[in-house]
Amino acid sequence: MAKIAFIGLGNMGGGMAANLAKAGHDVQAFDLSQDALTRAVERGCKQASSADAACEGAEAVVTMLPAGKHVAQVYRDQVFGKAPTSALLIDCSTIDIATAREVEEQASAQGYTMVDAPVSGGIAAAEGGTLTFMVGGSEEGFRRAREILEKMGKAVIHAGGPGAGQAAKICNNMLLGASMAATCETFVLAQKLGLDPQTFFDISSKASGQCWSMTSYCPVPGVGPETPADRDYEGGFAAALMLKDLKLAMEAAQQSGAYTPMGGEAEELYQRFVERGGGSKDFSALIKMIDDSWKVTDHQ
Ligand code: NAD
Repeated sequence: MAKIAFIGLGNMGGGMAANLAKAGHDVQAFDLSQDALTRAVERGCKQASSADAACEGAEAVVTMLPAGKHVAQVYRDQVFGKAPTSALLIDCSTIDIATAREVEEQASAQGYTMVDAPVSGGIAAAEGGTLTFMVGGSEEGFRRAREILEKMGKAVIHAGGPGAGQAAKICNNMLLGASMAATCETFVLAQKLGLDPQTFFDISSKASGQCWSMTSYCPVPGVGPETPADRDYEGGFAAALMLKDLKLAMEAAQQSGAYTPMGGEAEELYQRFVERGGGSKDFSALIKMIDDSWKVTDHQ
């Protein structure tokens, strides 16, 4: 049993911290929201009075925060110098690669081992302990992190050095955003050409056009396995979070000089969709904007 500080108990962190407690760890939890803290205590965590207090005597610190600015501030003001330098620092938030690398540099300058370990899988996977972790950091950092991350996920993969976890995460999600946009517009075109959506699915899912966005997460209700499309696009992966990841990908592309026209198109489409009020819908609901005449009930 290890003493673990867990900071950031929101939609994702709440379930993750609960799984660490369920595995027998002594989880010292902190969040700015008292509601989130209370829920964590109900699920086996111990309430810390502050992030600093949670870090005292910790063997590991796990953070699950909204964005890079929160991660930089929490590590600078509340983790460094408060957690023992023997504590392993694990940031599971999805943030920009530059901030991930800067915070890791500051950590290692102070004698800490730190890894970035963003996740794939949404709230249900966080609750169920079936996340996939992409880890950036040293071999030693990865080995130590794996023991903890395994209690919250089904796969823990070493992506490379510091920042590599974030790089893998945003590259994967850029591909997902672009492939979902392409799948949406393809089904709209197929329908306009008079093809039945189920018939087109049966053909394309077995032909060279097949991709995960079609075969496992079809944006058309009633077609393929059950997906958020069958629940009027509720639940799943929010379009606003897809937009956040696409923006991180475009920032990284600009900084690294990579040409990513498809990622750029996907970002623009999701930006428009979020501006039109679709941010809380599942990201496959983009199909509704691509074809305004699309009637969800038409194909149920
Ligand atoms: P969330 O907004 O529900 O939770 C973030 C929590 O951090 C909140 O409870 C907030 O009060 C807390 N917080 C913010 N600043 C803090 C501080 N200084 N000290 C302590 N607590 C602080 O967000 P979420 O959906 O849990 O997402 C967390 C991260 O996981 C994000 O980076 C997101 O991109 C990533 N992610 C989310 C999903 C998803 O489906 N929700 C999937 C994969 C990755």
